[in-house]
Amino acid sequence: MDLTFSERESAFRDELCSWLEQNKPGAPPGEGVGEDANYAWRREWQRRLYEGGWAAPSWPVEYGGRGSSLSESAIYFEELSRARVPLPANVLGLLLGGPTLMVWGTPEQKERYLTPILSAEEIWCQGFSEPDAGSDLAALKTKAVKDGNQWVVSGQKVWTSGAHYSKWCMLVARTDPGAPKHKGLTYFLMDMEQDAVQVRPLRQITGEAEFNELFIDEARIPDENVVGGVGNGWKVALTTLMNERAGLGFVFQVRLRQMLDDVFAAAAERGLLENHLYADKLADLHIRCESIRLLAWKGLTDIERYGQPGPEGSLVKWLWSDTNQHLTQLAAQMIGPQALACENPWSYELLRARGNTIEGGTTEVLKNIVAERVLGLPRLKVAG
Ligand SMILES: Cc1cc2nc3c(=O)[nH]c(=O)nc-3n(C[C@H](O)[C@H](O)[C@H](O)COP(=O)(O)OP(=O)(O)OC[C@H]3O[C@@H](n4cnc5c(N)ncnc54)[C@H](O)[C@@H]3O)c2cc1C
Repeated sequence: MDLTFSERESAFRDELCSWLEQNKPGAPPGEGVGEDANYAWRREWQRRLYEGGWAAPSWPVEYGGRGSSLSESAIYFEELSRARVPLPANVLGLLLGGPTLMVWGTPEQKERYLTPILSAEEIWCQGFSEPDAGSDLAALKTKAVKDGNQWVVSGQKVWTSGAHYSKWCMLVARTDPGAPKHKGLTYFLMDMEQDAVQVRPLRQITGEAEFNELFIDEARIPDENVVGGVGNGWKVALTTLMNERAGLGFVFQVRLRQMLDDVFAAAAERGLLENHLYADKLADLHIRCESIRLLAWKGLTDIERYGQPGPEGSLVKWLWSDTNQHLTQLAAQMIGPQALACENPWSYELLRARGNTIEGGTTEVLKNIVAERVLGLPRLKVAG
C-alpha cells in the first residue's frame, strides 16, 4: 500500500480545498430550532455541493460525478471533515442507492433517479430491517403481491433512518413465500408519498428522531420500480450493504480522528496531557485511530485491486464503533458532569455512540464474519 499522493490526487485535493474555502455553508441553525431546520440546512449544503460538481465525486462522469478514483474519494471525505462541513443530506442515496442503481438499474431507472439523488431534490431511505429481521435480514416478512403491472406491498419496517424526509425507499420484500428464504426476495423503489405508507418517528436517547417505523398497508409499486429483477432481491441488497460498509466505514474513521483531536484539545485546556491516567488513554486512542485509518485505506486499495470490498471492512466497522464509544466516554470523564448537560455537544456524542455497535451490522455479527472469513476459523455451530 502506497500512501503518498500522485500528482493527480494532489491536484484533486487542491481544487477541492479551494472550492470549500470559497463555499463553506453558514453556521447551522443550531439548538432549539428543531431537527427539520437543521436538515433543511444540510439539504441546502448538498445543493451547493451539487452545483459545484462536488456532491458525489466518485460517481462516473456520465451520471453527474467526476469519475474520481477511490483514493480521491477518500481525500474528499477527509477534506470535508477537515473543513468541518457536514456530509451531504442525502447520504443514503449518494453512498448506497445511487451505486446500487448503477450496478442493477435499467437505463430508464438511472436516467430517472440519479440526478435528483445528487441534487438532494429527492431523499432516499433504506427499508431493510424489520421487527423480526435485522442481523438475519433474509427472514424478512414484508410481502409484495403482483396485481396487473403493479405490486401490492404490506408489512412493517423499522429503524428506517431519514424516512420522514424521504421520497424513495430502497425496499426489500418477499415476492415468493414458497422459495427458500434468501430466494424469493425482490428489491423495489417505493414511493413514500402515498397514504398506504405511514411513517412514525422513533425518538432516541439523544432526544432526536433520526429513524422511524414504517407501516405499509397495501402500498402500490409499479413494475418499472423493481431493481435487478423479480426474485433477485438478495443479490441487489448485498450490493447496497457492501456499499454501506465500504462507504460509511471510511467516512466514520475520518470523523473519529476529528473527534480525537477535539478530545486532545479538551485535555490540553485542562492541563491533563501530563496526567498519566489520561495520557495513557489518549495514547491508546491515538494508536487505535491510526490502525483504523490504515485499515480503511488498505480496504480502499483492495477494492481498487480486486474490484470489491473484502470481509476486512467488518473489522474497520467493529473497531470504529468500539473506539468511538471509548473516546466519548473518556471525553465525558475529562469534562465532568457538564459533559452530560443537554447543550454540551459531548452529551450528544456520548449517547449517539451507543447505537454504533448495532447500526450497519452488530459487533457480534461482525466478529463472526472476521472469525470465519478473515481468520478462517470454523463456523459457529449452535447446539440443539
Ligand atoms: C442508528 C441506527 C440506524 C439504523 N438505520 C437503519 C436503516 O436506515 N435501515 C435499515 O433497514 N436498518 C437500519 N438500522 C437497523 C440495523 O441494521 C439493525 O438494528 C441491525 O442489523 C441489528 O438488527 P436487530 O436490531 O434486529 O437485532 P438482532 O438481529 O435481533 O440482534 C439482537 C442481538 O443478537 C445478536 N445476534 C444476532 N445474530 C447473531 C449471530 N448470528 N451471532 C451472534 N450474535 C447474534 C446481535 O449482535 C444483537 O446483540 C439502524 C440501526 C441503528 C442502531
